[in-house]
Amino acid sequence: MNTTLIIGAGGVSRVVVYKCVQNAAVFGKIILASRTKSKCDAIRAELPDADIQTASVDADSTEDMIKLIESYKPNIVINVALPYQDLTIMDACIATKTPYLDTANYEHPDEAKFEYKLQWERDEKFKEAGIMGLLGSGFDPGATNVFCAYAQKHYFDEIHTIDILDCNAGDHGYAFATNFNPEINLREVSAKGRYWENGKWIETEPMEIMQVWDYPEVGPKDSYLLYHEEMESLVQNIKGLQRIRFFMTFGQSYLKHMEVLQNVGMLGIEAIEHKGMKIVPMEFLKTLLPDPASLGPRTKGKTNIGIVAEGIKDGKKRKIYIYQVKDHEDCFKETNSQGVSYTTGVPAMIGAKLMLEGVWSQNGVVNMEQLNPDPFMDEMNKQGLPWQVKEMEV
Ligand code: NDP
Repeated sequence: MNTTLIIGAGGVSRVVVYKCVQNAAVFGKIILASRTKSKCDAIRAELPDADIQTASVDADSTEDMIKLIESYKPNIVINVALPYQDLTIMDACIATKTPYLDTANYEHPDEAKFEYKLQWERDEKFKEAGIMGLLGSGFDPGATNVFCAYAQKHYFDEIHTIDILDCNAGDHGYAFATNFNPEINLREVSAKGRYWENGKWIETEPMEIMQVWDYPEVGPKDSYLLYHEEMESLVQNIKGLQRIRFFMTFGQSYLKHMEVLQNVGMLGIEAIEHKGMKIVPMEFLKTLLPDPASLGPRTKGKTNIGIVAEGIKDGKKRKIYIYQVKDHEDCFKETNSQGVSYTTGVPAMIGAKLMLEGVWSQNGVVNMEQLNPDPFMDEMNKQGLPWQVKEMEV
């Protein structure tokens, strides 16, 4: 029987645990470990019949992680803690020869910059250890990379442009809250925008470029160009690509709050002096904001995330839209979680399932679009994330 080690006990983790339990024949015994053990225990208490053990770990410490892995000898480590822990957990997996999966690329806590460099640099070590490290197995990155690979495999000889379109039309009733870890989310959306065209990255001011996109089952929404990490690997792996952009929807209230918080310095990530103490404004703000894991029972509406790819098939121009629509309330009914946690946690479970089954098997550090997309797309249909493909006018 397999043993599955899950690190982190936040919103995404809860969904991963629920889905692994639904697929217990593959995942076997689950060890849920995080900084705050009581949060692991709370998740376990929701699934009293499942084979789950909990533990505490400081995943910032490779030694701690090695000890944990050695005591349970898992067949895989699913990292759904924070991007800050990616490298320490990867190093512990190398040391113990244990396959690794995450959903977000490494970020240094003191610098709001995400790139794959330090994770890709571990490729040789993963190969020497004879293990696979699957990077970015969430929705975006994750399912969106697989959508691109699927489009490339079945619909195009060459893809010229890709727009990734991420819409969360969920309403949680708060004036301001983030749908996943506030620190990571706010760092991402307050950063400069960036897209890739003709071999070069082009930088924009935050939220400078906006388009209205009509999302199926949701309707037209203002969608803002952001930098998003899956573009870094897609520009290397999708042949013939000339341009790739990423758009995310934001409501006016969210943007107004963001602007004010930024203007008053609340998004700062450097420590400031406050009454003789050092505090990081962004961390303090995180303490004030609702915990994303608590949004589940309040959130109504749908998410729609997909890609529009344009290119050439058999000498003719072609444009397709692959997308997935999910209802927040359905997610809550199934997993006690809102849609953003759900749409991240399910692909994490699917990636891990394909690894444990040996369907996705490759030594080294791998991004999602480098693998055969078909089994992942099939699993999405079976595991609660059915998708559509629409031919569009060129
Ligand atoms: P949360 O903040 O809800 O949960 C993070 C969890 O990690 C918490 O339980 C936290 O512990 C734990 N943790 C943090 N630091 C450590 C540490 N040093 N050691 C052990 N545990 C630690 O985040 P989410 O669940 O919203 O997000 C999880 C991950 O998913 C993030 O990396 C995020 O970027 C990613 N994500 C990916 C998406 C995608 O589509 N690819 C979309 C959304 C999120 P504690 O409870 O003690 O704070």
